[in-house]
Amino acid sequence: MKLANRVSTLTPSSTLAITAKAKALKAEGHDVIGLGAGEPDFNTPDYIIEAAVKSMQEGHTKYTPSGGLPALKESIINKFKEDQQLTYAQNEVMVASGAKHALYLLFQAILNPNDEVIIPTPYWVSYPEQVKLAEGTPVYIEGKEENSFKITKQQLEQAITNQTKAFILNSPSNPTGSLYTEEELKEIGEVCVKHDILIVSDEIYEKLIYGSSKHISVAQVSEQVKKQTVIINGVSKSHSMTGWRIGYAAGRSEIIKPMTDLASHSTSNPTSIAQYGTIAAYDVESDFVEQMKTEFEHRLNVVYDQLIQIPGITCVKPEGAFYLFPNVKEAVALNGFDNVDDWVSNLLEVEKVALVPGSGFGAPDNVRLSYATSLDQIQEALTRVERFIKNNM
Ligand code: PLP
Repeated sequence: MKLANRVSTLTPSSTLAITAKAKALKAEGHDVIGLGAGEPDFNTPDYIIEAAVKSMQEGHTKYTPSGGLPALKESIINKFKEDQQLTYAQNEVMVASGAKHALYLLFQAILNPNDEVIIPTPYWVSYPEQVKLAEGTPVYIEGKEENSFKITKQQLEQAITNQTKAFILNSPSNPTGSLYTEEELKEIGEVCVKHDILIVSDEIYEKLIYGSSKHISVAQVSEQVKKQTVIINGVSKSHSMTGWRIGYAAGRSEIIKPMTDLASHSTSNPTSIAQYGTIAAYDVESDFVEQMKTEFEHRLNVVYDQLIQIPGITCVKPEGAFYLFPNVKEAVALNGFDNVDDWVSNLLEVEKVALVPGSGFGAPDNVRLSYATSLDQIQEALTRVERFIKNNM
């Protein structure tokens, strides 16, 4: 059968090939350490699970409004007020089946054929694919390693054409963990207001920020920039709820409404019981997020120090999320490989360590490794990486 053009140009997730290979080796009985995880290695806290169970027992197992329960929207609105001093009305918020789905609906709602969306590299793998699925054109600008993978306002200005519709900002970033400062956000915000470009601000890692760094939403820099921004967020990473599939979007009602209408004809609504769990996640006092963050920060500091001792590897220290994105170009050359993908593949075969090649994130000299796994495992993995590099020099 001739399939739709839109799926023929889809690029499968870059983590897929390496994960499949890692799984096959594991099935053969090998001691494989996978550092590809994109989710916290914590259970969802009990108070959230209990709230979802209670909602089922009380009969909340039916359809809900497409854009989410008014009570959940209220919890999200309160969260914006408390955390970011941002005010949104009920019709300026919609709940989707994960932040990924909220982003998908957003691009479907705003893009016409050939509309351009500016995406800084390194990027999260789904952005370009979602833009293309909405018949838009991704336009890449390079977040340079020497600038902690962040783009500048000059780069942004240069990439803007009269076809530019949106700009994607992901701070803290997957895969780099970089965080934009208030000053940088102001500059970016001003450029987007000047050219009437929508800022898609993916803040899914907002709660995982380390050291003295602080998260600021670009929507906080001014009322004008807020109007020009759609914030995407969710509970997958903050409350270790990846499987619950709850994310949301906040922005102008003229954008939120068609997103909700699209959801009404596709998913109908996010899972009712997951929505009740999310209300508890936001409304019940708990130190879960703080505890998880403390553990991630501890791991980051230990693992980062070990990583940068390895010959041929350099790494910008991340300020957030739970990934390291080292540059391995020199190690790859020292080991006589042509590219990082082949090096990663060989490392898996020989030392049974699975890293994600940076090519899928638009950064072919880097690899992504997640520290959302036990410290022992990460330390052992890095010991193996070091041995691999030294043995092949
Ligand atoms: N945005 C970024 C940058 C992510 O890394 C992820 C998950 O990996 C998502 C969005 C999607 O999150 P969700 O699980 O809520 O769909």
